Amino acid sequence: MMINGTSKVCGVMGCPVEHSISPMMHNYYSEQIGNDMIYVPFLVQKNAVGEAVKGAFALHVQGINVTVPHKQAVMEYLCELDEGARAIGAVNTLVRTPKGYKGYNTDGEGLLRAIKEAGMDISGRACILLGAGGAAKAAAYVLCREQASRVYILNRSPEKAQALAEEMNRLFGRSVCLGLSLSDWGSIREDHCLAVQTTSVGMYPGPAQAPVEEPAFYQKLDMAFDAIYTPMETRFLKLAKEAGAKTANGLGMLIYQGVAAYELWNPGVKLSDEVIAGARELMLRHLEGQAR
Ligand code: NAP
Repeated sequence: MMINGTSKVCGVMGCPVEHSISPMMHNYYSEQIGNDMIYVPFLVQKNAVGEAVKGAFALHVQGINVTVPHKQAVMEYLCELDEGARAIGAVNTLVRTPKGYKGYNTDGEGLLRAIKEAGMDISGRACILLGAGGAAKAAAYVLCREQASRVYILNRSPEKAQALAEEMNRLFGRSVCLGLSLSDWGSIREDHCLAVQTTSVGMYPGPAQAPVEEPAFYQKLDMAFDAIYTPMETRFLKLAKEAGAKTANGLGMLIYQGVAAYELWNPGVKLSDEVIAGARELMLRHLEGQAR
């Protein structure tokens, strides 16, 4: 790829950011479709988010992905918020406008596309959402919008689960969500559930644990999606698979949130299934190499 004076610059800001595989994905897209855009990692400390956004604007950076821990903190430095990002309460994509950056949240769309691709469905189904952090907010929004019959939000800190449930019930005007503690899973009466795991439990390099260890919990699931993709099979997915559920890890979510961001930064571009499959192959090879 030839970088020149007209190259559009995008990137990802986070702390840490060294582990991010987003640069690999976005630069692959640009190479494949011959788009004059480069994508770089920006290490931004917690106290420097405002300065980073201001500086990026002055430097004419076209777009920025925002990752842990800045997804909420960045919101006050934006000129506008997309409706979905406002409802979710977190931003993972900034798009340059003449006045400043507009904030979007593509995590929810990424999750939805990944769930559908994995052959899982939401409409009319009882869903169990594990976690109440940033990723959970995007997931709760999508599960409610896609007409889950019920969304049980289980979290280590139950007050956060309850707050998220109340927020979603208000937003969607129906009592669809119920916030519980992780240990309260036994009060869920439904079976054939879709579980969406968004806690950081089981993520590399942490211990191989699951947020719920009891095998009986997994008997409730027909489908289990984990937002984590390192390792590619978390203990949560292993337990769900052993109980007979269909499973998928978070690589698809990462890929499709990236596709949505790429298309926002490059109006008129629609990445083909073939190019997306190429990026997935590249990332899979990288992750498998890391695991060895
Ligand atoms: P976050 O806002 O920090 O939320 C972390 C969540 O994990 C909270 O619900 C927290 O519970 C829970 N948690 C942390 N340690 C725990 C423990 N020891 N036991 C039980 N619960 C625990 O983080 P996030 O941005 O939502 O990210 C969460 C996960 O999703 C990460 O693994 C991240 O990599 C993944 N993710 C993936 C994608 C993707 O594209 N695939 C996108 C976004 C995020 P408390 O509220 O009690 O602290």
